[in-house]
Amino acid sequence: MQPYRQALLQPWVDSARKIALSEIAFTDHDRYHAGISFDALDCLREENPDLTIRAGIELDNDPIHSAAGRKWIEQHWNKLDFVLGSVHFLDRADQMFDSVPAGAEQFDGRDIDAIYADYFRRVREIAATGLVDCLAHVDLIKIHGHRPNAEIDAIVSETFDFIRSRDLAIELSTAGWRKPVNELYPADRIIELAMEKGIPFTTASDAHSHVQLAENFARLAEKMSSFGIREVCVFEKHKRDLRAVSPSVAGAPPPL
Ligand SMILES: [Zn+2]
Repeated sequence: MQPYRQALLQPWVDSARKIALSEIAFTDHDRYHAGISFDALDCLREENPDLTIRAGIELDNDPIHSAAGRKWIEQHWNKLDFVLGSVHFLDRADQMFDSVPAGAEQFDGRDIDAIYADYFRRVREIAATGLVDCLAHVDLIKIHGHRPNAEIDAIVSETFDFIRSRDLAIELSTAGWRKPVNELYPADRIIELAMEKGIPFTTASDAHSHVQLAENFARLAEKMSSFGIREVCVFEKHKRDLRAVSPSVAGAPPPL
């Protein structure tokens, strides 16, 4: 865990400016909440008035740490712009299933349809906390390349009805393109289902280093345009706002 301070955060802003992003959101994992400083973010905003900087966090289902994360989010709700919800744990408390490559062993000899059903049940649980604005990498369960035999529609639809009823967004995350599955989160069919249900999208690169910021956003822009997605949403103090994605700005990625 690295505490937020100017020297740590400024490179992210510099990277964002270099690639013409207009907004970025910091969304550290909730287990590192102790490092988040709203004062450091305020300083960063003052120093970089040309960029919109959002305070966010990613709440996952870590059986050990997320109880403290939830409590922290409740306490700091009014200072946060944006909370992502995610599922990184299945039955094992000691290992994220999306650890690469070790997490793949959690799928060995298992019924993949049952794992998918269990995963999406956990996604609904996170959505039901009332503490998230958007679901991150909503089909992360495919990370190692395991595909369900059952129709994905049946598995996903119930979850999307729930997400819609809670008025939450889901992420289009380019991180999937740098993982073994080598596919955007979420898959094309899942994007179609989300559009049918009227679920809005955010865009994300899930950058774990400032050099990954907006990675593959030009490719994402092409994908969005092929689906006819012309708007993405951003959040300010949990209030959703829409931004038009301009296809005419060649190479300029949509906001993070
Ligand atoms: Zn995550």
